[in-house]
Amino acid sequence: MYPRVILKGTLIKKSQQKRRTSPSNYKERFFVLDTQDLTYSERRPGKKPVQKGSIELARIKCVEIVCSDIPIPCSNKYPFQVFHDSYYLYIFAPDNDCRQRWVRALKEETKCNRLAVKYHPNFWMDGRWRCCHQTEKLAAGCHEYDPMGFASKKPLPKTPDPERRLSNPDLGRVVVVAIQNYIPHDASDLTLKKDQEYVLTDSSHPEWWAVQDDRGNTGFVPNIYIAEKSGSNFNRFVWYNKNITRARAEELLMQEGKEGAFMVRDSRQLGVYTVSVYTKAPGSNGEKNPRVKHYQIKDTEIEPFRFYLAEKYLFSTIPELIQYHQHNAAGLITRLRHPVTLGKDNSQNSFDVSQGEWEVEPAELVLGEELGSGEFGMVLQGTWRDRKVAVKMLREGAMSEEDFKEEAMVVTKLSHPKLVQLYGVCTQHSPICLVFEFMEHGCLSDYLRATRGHLSPDTLLGMCLDTSEGMAYLESSNFIHRDLAARNCLVSKDNEVKVSDFGMARFVLDDQYTSSQGSKFPVKWSSPEVIKYSKFSSKSDVWSFGVLMWEVYSEGRLPYESRSNAEVVESLNAGLRLLKPRQTPSAVHQLMEWCWKEKPEDRPSFAVLLHELASLSDL
Ligand code: ADP
Repeated sequence: MYPRVILKGTLIKKSQQKRRTSPSNYKERFFVLDTQDLTYSERRPGKKPVQKGSIELARIKCVEIVCSDIPIPCSNKYPFQVFHDSYYLYIFAPDNDCRQRWVRALKEETKCNRLAVKYHPNFWMDGRWRCCHQTEKLAAGCHEYDPMGFASKKPLPKTPDPERRLSNPDLGRVVVVAIQNYIPHDASDLTLKKDQEYVLTDSSHPEWWAVQDDRGNTGFVPNIYIAEKSGSNFNRFVWYNKNITRARAEELLMQEGKEGAFMVRDSRQLGVYTVSVYTKAPGSNGEKNPRVKHYQIKDTEIEPFRFYLAEKYLFSTIPELIQYHQHNAAGLITRLRHPVTLGKDNSQNSFDVSQGEWEVEPAELVLGEELGSGEFGMVLQGTWRDRKVAVKMLREGAMSEEDFKEEAMVVTKLSHPKLVQLYGVCTQHSPICLVFEFMEHGCLSDYLRATRGHLSPDTLLGMCLDTSEGMAYLESSNFIHRDLAARNCLVSKDNEVKVSDFGMARFVLDDQYTSSQGSKFPVKWSSPEVIKYSKFSSKSDVWSFGVLMWEVYSEGRLPYESRSNAEVVESLNAGLRLLKPRQTPSAVHQLMEWCWKEKPEDRPSFAVLLHELASLSDL
């Protein structure tokens, strides 16, 4: 029977110094673990691999990570050891996940061997063990060896977003770009390097797609880590019309007749796209209303190419650019409100008051005691169609009601188990009231403070995971929250957290709240680009989510406790970030820091955060 390959990959190996006189060195080797041996070879581009060594698995007595207290002298900083015969092989992985994978697989394959009872957790170096100072290399270990130790327990991560598929079935020619690094979790996976291109070879699985790298290696990757490269296939987007002339676009948009009705179409210039948008707004040079304006999507002409409509706002992809302008006019005559597509059903995007689906009959609503009050006014408990609800009574002048009514339809359509559902709006009387799903434990920040010291690590992680799930849904719906914070999440009676108040910040009229200079502006939750240019995006939500995770792990403390907004801005500019709350696991802290990367494009998406948190919650 042939041996079966279990794991393979490039790692760095330290010479085993079998001969006393040989100097120690670190070399990159391609390791293959199969059911019989651990083999390593030298691989040079264009040359046949040369096998440099092989260890029979039956001879291995211990496999364990090395806890080093000294700087690691090679580029891979995560060492582990393989003790076999009378030798110690030190191998260095590029990251902890990769190390865990190798240690786990090696432990599994050697668990029936005659294993060492004890081992050395630190290096043998300069004639002694750094852990116990014994000077005999084969001296008995100083720590109990646990062959089924923690490294063996980490299961494969869950992969979210089963809906996501490529529209183009013409595989083999579809080029995708890695939007995040991905480290393989088993032998059939492939490493992804952010921004590198791959060819898609199989997209039949809902979560794991096969891709090929430029060296011809093929393997599976989670599909949320890749995005189609070419901008030429926008067919899946409701706003895209391929073969449509300027005149026909104008005709369709005029017919639609709604402020912000828009489409993206091929421009007459090959490879260029135009955004056409309908507006009734008065033009600065006396243009007649209503009319359609056309904006060409430009690129920066130097690598890395970025797309833009208005100079200041650059995006790596056209869908990102459109998504941004769906929420921000930012230099356009109006924001892109209603996508219009020839031959596709636009009904889901149109707001039809006559349908009144979102309108709550006042007679059906029974109001009860006060639950609290917020930016928009009082919140009362209530009953609506036999269910408990929370009713927000809008204080007059607190909200731009016309804008909100227009948006209510969109918000009521957003529905996910981790979002606080807006059931409907009661607009027939003043004050307007909004009817929401009732959440027993009220807002997350108060709940964290009230239960301080009583929530288990699993519950804290679960709260972050719930929030990331709700946010991943908003992100996939191209909806920006704009004010994500623990105070805007609510807790159910089983400690389930749901995201609330999404998008509502746009309707607040109080400029102390809306202006980044205002005293009520949530500076401590805001990303640098929001503070500087009010540039909101799902990635600015990701920054806020990092702060929310911090709030969860500090059990409801106020971020940057006693510091003023101005002091916070100053320290962010100096590159400083919130410190790790005491009980945060380092993997969670790493995610927080990832959310707080200066550049939005360096931050993870919510889909990726959800993936990472889900894999931690399985530990
Ligand atoms: P606003 O959005 O106007 O700022 P909040 O959403 O902060 O108002 O609501 C104020 C308070 O009302 C919250 O702190 C919470 O205690 C309570 N509350 C709001 N929505 C709900 C709900 N859906 N279920 C239960 N309590 C709620």
